[in-house]
Amino acid sequence: MPTIDLQTLKSRIDLAELFSSRGLKLVRRGANLVTLCPFHSDSRPSLVINPNRQLWLCGAPHNQSYAEYSIMRS
Ligand SMILES: [Zn+2]
Repeated sequence: MPTIDLQTLKSRIDLAELFSSRGLKLVRRGANLVTLCPFHSDSRPSLVINPNRQLWLCGAPHNQSYAEYSIMRS
């Protein structure tokens, strides 16, 4: 079975597409996109996605690695 490292996997995923495919409405804010964070109870958009760098960051404290794992698995 071929193995693929996490970095390669991440480079092949379009984050904006991934989050919007989960039903999240992305709003452009400058170079970034913002949306409600699916990994905690979010009332105002605190998840920021940078589509150019394929990075995302949530302003609330929680385990980002676990969140990445769970969204890729779902
Ligand atoms: Zn969050």
